[in-house]
Amino acid sequence: MVSLEKEALRIPLVSELMIPSEKVAHVQVGNPLEHALLVLVKSGYSAVPVLDPRFKFQGVISKTKILEETLGIEEFELNRLSEITVSEVMDNEVPCLQLDDNMIDAMHKLIDYPFVCVTNPEGEFDGIVTRRTILKQFSKHYHETLKHTMTETTL
Ligand code: AMP
Repeated sequence: MVSLEKEALRIPLVSELMIPSEKVAHVQVGNPLEHALLVLVKSGYSAVPVLDPRFKFQGVISKTKILEETLGIEEFELNRLSEITVSEVMDNEVPCLQLDDNMIDAMHKLIDYPFVCVTNPEGEFDGIVTRRTILKQFSKHYHETLKHTMTETTL
């Protein structure tokens, strides 16, 4: 019982919570916006990570940024989608996490972003942690604690 309680109190690490890189949709810095928009629309995500050819994390590209960039004075200039590269538009001032950070570190960063990228000390992309994952963990923990408290009080 004691070890079960200890396990319930252990704060999970980012390495245990992340979606690994091979399951994450991404685009390359040199891709035209046209390709990035295609990936975003096809995947249904509002934003995805941007990597360089060596798999190093460079930033995040979103549908909103692409639409802002193509909006002219009166209309969308969609021909610009093939002229501009992802590196010109992406957001590169985003926080990252390391594999040995824990769920609390992730939670702080996820207040302002729907997902946060995980990198290794060399800056290579390892995966992402999403708000959904953290909320699921939190919900599970809350229900387990509640169940445990109810059992204790009825004993
Ligand atoms: P969620 O919390 O699952 O709704 O995910 C939040 C955001 O994380 C999504 O809108 C995407 O921008 C990003 N995301 C989640 N899963 C993936 C994935 N497999 N590949 C790329 N981006 C993802």
